[in-house]
Amino acid sequence: MSHPPHLQQQQNIAAPLSGDPASQLSSETAISDPVVVPNSVGLHARPAASLVNAAKAYSSEIRLRRGNRDVNAKSLVSIMSLGVKQGDSVLLSAIGPDAREAVQKLAELIATGCGEGEAESTLPPMPSAIPAEKNIALSCALNGIPSAPGMAVGVIVQVRQEEIVVKERGEDPLLERQQLDEALREAAIQLEALHATIADPDKAAIFAAHEELLSDPELLDLVVSGISHGQSAAYAWQAACKAYANQLAALKDEVLAGRANDIRDVSRRVLKLLAGVTEEVPALPDNAILIAEDMTPSETAHLDRDKVLGFCTTGGGATSHVAILARSLGLPAICGIEERALRVENGTPAILDGYSGTLSLNPPPLAIAKARSQQARVLRQHANAMEHAQEHASTLDDQRIEVVANIGSVTEAFDAIAQGGEGVGLLRTEFLYLERTTPPSEAEQAANYCAIAKTLGPKNILVLRTLDVGGDKPLAYLPLPAEENPYLGIRGIRLLAVEPEILRTQIRAALQAASFTRLHLMFPMVATLEELREARKLVEEEKKQLGSHMPVNVGLMIEVPSAALMAEKFAKEADFFSIGTNDLTQYTLAMDRGHPKLAASADAFHPSVLQLIAITTAGAHKHGKWVGICGGMASDPLAVPLLIGLGVDELSVSIPSIATTKALIRKLSKAECEKLARHALGMETASEVRELFNGFLAHKS
Ligand code: PEP
Ligand code: MG
Repeated sequence: MSHPPHLQQQQNIAAPLSGDPASQLSSETAISDPVVVPNSVGLHARPAASLVNAAKAYSSEIRLRRGNRDVNAKSLVSIMSLGVKQGDSVLLSAIGPDAREAVQKLAELIATGCGEGEAESTLPPMPSAIPAEKNIALSCALNGIPSAPGMAVGVIVQVRQEEIVVKERGEDPLLERQQLDEALREAAIQLEALHATIADPDKAAIFAAHEELLSDPELLDLVVSGISHGQSAAYAWQAACKAYANQLAALKDEVLAGRANDIRDVSRRVLKLLAGVTEEVPALPDNAILIAEDMTPSETAHLDRDKVLGFCTTGGGATSHVAILARSLGLPAICGIEERALRVENGTPAILDGYSGTLSLNPPPLAIAKARSQQARVLRQHANAMEHAQEHASTLDDQRIEVVANIGSVTEAFDAIAQGGEGVGLLRTEFLYLERTTPPSEAEQAANYCAIAKTLGPKNILVLRTLDVGGDKPLAYLPLPAEENPYLGIRGIRLLAVEPEILRTQIRAALQAASFTRLHLMFPMVATLEELREARKLVEEEKKQLGSHMPVNVGLMIEVPSAALMAEKFAKEADFFSIGTNDLTQYTLAMDRGHPKLAASADAFHPSVLQLIAITTAGAHKHGKWVGICGGMASDPLAVPLLIGLGVDELSVSIPSIATTKALIRKLSKAECEKLARHALGMETASEVRELFNGFLAHKS
């Protein structure tokens, strides 16, 4: 007997479990040790579906427990309703003839991520740069979370889902049950067909999870119980799905709450079959930019690519399945857009900017023409820039600017060089530490760092940033206490004080790459000189330990205002600086870098941030040290003359921006950039600065 989610009985895991007494004659009971969930977004639909699938292979009754709640491990909705997050410990228990094997195998499955690869973590990163063309003069702009990159010029089409109204009372329960079974069978066929049209296996898995929901025992129990109480199949199905979807939507976890959308999607598919509703997306005009409260994954996958150029939703976020699909389909998208977007009239001309998350309405014809030519120009410019990508970049007055890349893997190191990168200005080493239950060993890390170093070669630079986790990026195996303000907590170099061994191991591994490339070690989140001294000491100790005599430069990220303000002092003790404008902006303006409502104001072009950059370059140059920029600002063409004018020596950009950044540098004069930068430093707002450089660049192309 099962219960609707809100009536879920709490069971003591050690107590005998209910079940068919006959099947328990030869039964065994088994309970696992706590298993840590490694998946980056916890047990959401896809890993939960794999777990359910595997659990169904056993005849034992199997339950999954988190905290003081346990649920049927063969029910997808029940598992999702547990709200299991990355790093949570769960327990499995089973009773039945194959209990022991079930618990052992399923515990292994959970510990290894339920077969989930790096589906979500390896999504193509969203470009953090805001393209210069964003500032085309527009009559009205609505903002949201940039969720899939690209530009679309088209007309607004509002997409409303008509509610499907069904009658509450059913006919003969047997007949209703039969109709339900038929609808479920047909829905499974539809989902399989849809599954087959999606090439990327990770994206296709979304629909496999939907299929799993069709046979979810808890959900079906609830529906069947409704039917046996006289409800129609459609009504009972709708009510059961609503109960589960609402329960998920109410969870504090943003990702799991987003999965309520998956249940609503499956619910509607079956409901349409039961109610005989055939209506689909209405006929669309050409160049449609869709606006909806939410899109279901099915609707997104079904979008007519000949007509739809992009879409905006008021719900969801960059991690929703809809956003994942939009990226895989190459459709620019904005999630979490302002509510008033829903009131924009159909047919309104608009420009959707998936880079900045801006929807510009009624743009003047000139702006539309500009955006269109912009799209074409982006493609052309890149092709032209690639012709000289492998040459160095200097300004017209011979100031050499090194252009390097931000990367996170060996493959990206390879791509960076192929695109003309002169090395790596920021290796985010977090990739080795996330989504696992134990820290990477020294040998594993050394193999990775050496592979990257060999790809870059002895002439190129590798700036290897030490682990920047903790705070907002927790590690399952690093039990740090929950923090009120994670961005101001134990993050980056601050780990040194609480978990020094993890950094020591990393430094030892990194030092092994020194013979293959120009190795630079860089510490993140440095706020005080004592932290830098501690870090340097650690590097020296580990070098001595290894007997290494290879030259290794030690520097820091300038991303905390205190470090920028004291740059001159830091420069005496550091070999180089790299400015992390993403964090420097958030800490200077006290605006959370991920906050959708503050995104427009948390602007690295703000004169306060520029002042800190100027102080940093002046302090560094006084002691003959170089300064790079590795925050998203460096990849923004609008920022290139500004940063050169502020005295920056190196730009570390996203891989697709390497060639075009070099091409732009070759068109600039350092003296002219300095004059403009001085002007910008005296300005009052970020918009004034943007306007200045927009005007300047308009004359360059
Ligand atoms: C930055 O803060 O600008 C930066 C490059 O580091 P991250 O984005 O990884 O915090
Ligand atoms: Mg940072």
